[in-house]
Amino acid sequence: MSDTVRENGVIVAIDGPSGAGKSSLTKLLARRLGYIHIDTGAMFRAVALMAKRAGIAADDDAGLAGLCRTLEISFVRDGEACRVLANGEDVSREIRTEEIGLLTSAVSARKPVRAALLTMQRAMGAKGGVILEGRDIGTVVFPDAEVKFFLSASAEERGRRRYLELAARGDSATLEETIAKVIQRDRQDEGREHAPLKQAADALPIDSTSLSIDEVLAVMESAVRERIAKGEKG
Ligand code: C5P
Repeated sequence: MSDTVRENGVIVAIDGPSGAGKSSLTKLLARRLGYIHIDTGAMFRAVALMAKRAGIAADDDAGLAGLCRTLEISFVRDGEACRVLANGEDVSREIRTEEIGLLTSAVSARKPVRAALLTMQRAMGAKGGVILEGRDIGTVVFPDAEVKFFLSASAEERGRRRYLELAARGDSATLEETIAKVIQRDRQDEGREHAPLKQAADALPIDSTSLSIDEVLAVMESAVRERIAKGEKG
């Protein structure tokens, strides 16, 4: 892709609250474009899990900084799936519980954690040809990303989607509890001091409440292809 601004293609940032459909859409879009998918939430979740195991409290900045200094996070492809490794151990399943989700929201508000993962994420995405999904990709990690989306949906719809996901995995949470947790996580993510969840001024907002995955995917794909076709900025 010689007509794009980076070695391997453009950088696509997909931000938004939990349950808006970022993961599914990032996966599908990455496959369509032949791009690498970087799930930054999984990286924060891996930090939270390892902190919990090591008995490091969510507000212990020195402990978290020490943990991040030695923690290696990587992604490996496993057929259609992508596995998350923490110090070489596959933690893909363990990081997906609601408990770790809430703990992640607390741990990810801490400055040393954000600083450590910011460095890792910039290194992973610098060459382009990547789609990063998270909360602060378009605002902090890659403010110069060529394409930015802010994907949202109502809290009730996001809670409902999450509830169905959990139920399919045999989790016994109720719909009301799940919606309440989605709202709690939104509050924590939007209200924090460092890299709060917010829409970048130049992001394309998409409300997926009443759109199908295919409809959102079509909007995203055409925006990215248009940007790729346009080539160099300026
Ligand atoms: O995307 P996911 O729900 O897996 O993210 C889990 C948590 O990680 C979020 O609620 C948020 O607190 C944190 N996170 C973040 N910045 C990112 C991605 C995730 O703070 N870029």
